[in-house]
Amino acid sequence: MRIVLLGAPGSGKGTQAKKLMADKEIPQVSTGDMLREAVASGTRFGVKAKAVMDAGDLVPDEVVLGIISERLAKPDAENGFILDGFPRTTQQAVDLEELLDEMETPLDTAVLMDVDFDILLKRLTGRRTCSLTGQLLNVYFSSQEELDACTSAGGELIQREDDNEETISNRLDVYRENTEPLIDFYRKRGKLVTINAEGTIDEVYERLLEALAA
Ligand code: AMP
Repeated sequence: MRIVLLGAPGSGKGTQAKKLMADKEIPQVSTGDMLREAVASGTRFGVKAKAVMDAGDLVPDEVVLGIISERLAKPDAENGFILDGFPRTTQQAVDLEELLDEMETPLDTAVLMDVDFDILLKRLTGRRTCSLTGQLLNVYFSSQEELDACTSAGGELIQREDDNEETISNRLDVYRENTEPLIDFYRKRGKLVTINAEGTIDEVYERLLEALAA
């Protein structure tokens, strides 16, 4: 199974990709996570990438393509992969198509995760990670018990650096301008399925599995 999860920041791509990865035993390939690792490692490239990411802008196409082609060549991606946050521009989609053609492993499906704008904003501004467990939580949607479980165990609820309001607004603009055209790109190729990505994580996951089975 080779799939792209398409959707605005906050549509739940990462959350759903992790569930699918555990069930189907294929890797989640997240360019955002890989870039954050590069930033954490403090290399010169990481320092440059951090400035772009903190502003909510896009890292250059050739950089992410390099990261993706290395990652997809690894043995664990042989049986499939879930692309999360890539492609984000038409150029990246074209490059991905070429890369997969060369590897003779074309994409099966692009799943568009559809979420209302107001919910996206709450998901992004409310998103926190428990510093102890790495669990993803949300101050608007998680239960008080879940939030308290983290803090009373001595953990902190950490907010991603690019989840502040100014950067979020730019990330959503960047999505509209650069990534939304990919909806048509995959529709024209007969690869697009759209799911309603509102509701609980489990409800969305059910819809995702149904869409992939169809
Ligand atoms: P994400 O975790 O997918 O929201 O990505 C966080 C940030 O990493 C984005 O706002 C971009 O700055 C950068 N990034 C991630 N994936 C890509 C991509 N495919 N192309 C360009 N920049 C990306």
